[in-house]
Amino acid sequence: MRSFRILLPFLLVPVIWISSCAPRFTSKFASRDDVLYLASKDTPKPQRSSCDTSEYYAPDPVHPDHRPDYLIRVNFHFMNSSDKKNNIPRDEQIKYVRDLTWVLNKSLETNMEMWLPPGNNTPALPIPFRYILTGNPDIPGDQGIYEHIDDELYFFVKSGRYRNNSDMRVIRKYAIHDDSILNIFLMPHHPDSVASGTYRADGSGIALGTSLKVAGQWIKKPDPWGIRGLFHHEIGHILGLSHTWNANDGCDDTPRHPNCFNKSDKPPCDSLYSNNVMDYNAHQAAWSPCQLGKIVRNFSKPDSRQRKLLEPVWCTKKEGKIIEITERIDWLSARDLDADILIREGGVLAIHCRASMPKDGKITVAPGGKLILDGGTLHNSCGEPWEGIEIQTLGKKSGELIFLSPGVIEDTRHRFEPKMD
Ligand SMILES: [Zn+2]
Repeated sequence: MRSFRILLPFLLVPVIWISSCAPRFTSKFASRDDVLYLASKDTPKPQRSSCDTSEYYAPDPVHPDHRPDYLIRVNFHFMNSSDKKNNIPRDEQIKYVRDLTWVLNKSLETNMEMWLPPGNNTPALPIPFRYILTGNPDIPGDQGIYEHIDDELYFFVKSGRYRNNSDMRVIRKYAIHDDSILNIFLMPHHPDSVASGTYRADGSGIALGTSLKVAGQWIKKPDPWGIRGLFHHEIGHILGLSHTWNANDGCDDTPRHPNCFNKSDKPPCDSLYSNNVMDYNAHQAAWSPCQLGKIVRNFSKPDSRQRKLLEPVWCTKKEGKIIEITERIDWLSARDLDADILIREGGVLAIHCRASMPKDGKITVAPGGKLILDGGTLHNSCGEPWEGIEIQTLGKKSGELIFLSPGVIEDTRHRFEPKMD
């Protein structure tokens, strides 16, 4: 003990000396005064066509965390006749819907490589959305699984004199919150159609607005794996996609083709068979980058009907997630973020379009990191405040904030714009 007392003063000296010479670390929320380069008000805003172009919205497999995982709210309506002979019994509906939703989401984990055009090298990008079963928010405990007994409206006739596939009445009568939930109606073919012998009572569907009518022999409880493509196809229409084989769907990576259902021995179906989700074929399991870009673009448009179907997961911070920027990253499309952003030393984040920060979120620019706003808008798209931009300084090195052209920073709790007197 004694020897310690003697040694201690000698040990402390060098420690104090080191700490007094270490570069000072400071941190503060940025205001307009902290912008290193500020374009004048007269600087023309760049005409960023990329903000409105689907291809810039295709999922980025290297940085999947730069967008949220989208969740599309769905509910299910079992339509039946009063004799209850035409659909799955009530006590089996919950299990069937759970199994079906699970299969639909499981199949979205794998995007198939495109088979057309022959010899293509189109990447199979990750599919960035899933479905989430959603009850009526006005009814506590509601599961989003309904049964309607209605002898007038329960059935679906896809062809012939009594065709009613595009009849909206069943949707108008039974849809629940179809401005924010994708309503799926599981409708049997009419027993008279099935009995006719000429009518094909197979799985078919039609997307009408944000609702979907799916016809099938539900009483037989079809295996969800066998009908997953039908659901993805019809939901694809609701998300903004068109058929690819017979018209211009606005995508260069989905060529027109003869719409073969499957491969056969004779031309053209020996080579020109498609597996794209938006064709009629046995697979319906390939989404092209352009198709995914279209969907994400619709999700990112502030007032789109597709965006309203999403669970707004970007409004709050996702637990444990931080978006780290360690290289030059240009966001050439609008996006909604569900985490804080940390721009590390050597990292550059350039925002060219709209970017929404979650409630209480912040962007930290570490010493040697750089945040560039090039005509972009930083805000919170949920009507909530976010913290702002934190600039860190270590010695003489600071995080940098640059406005290459007039940009907008809104909704920050730490006021960015000077107060106007
Ligand atoms: Zn279709």
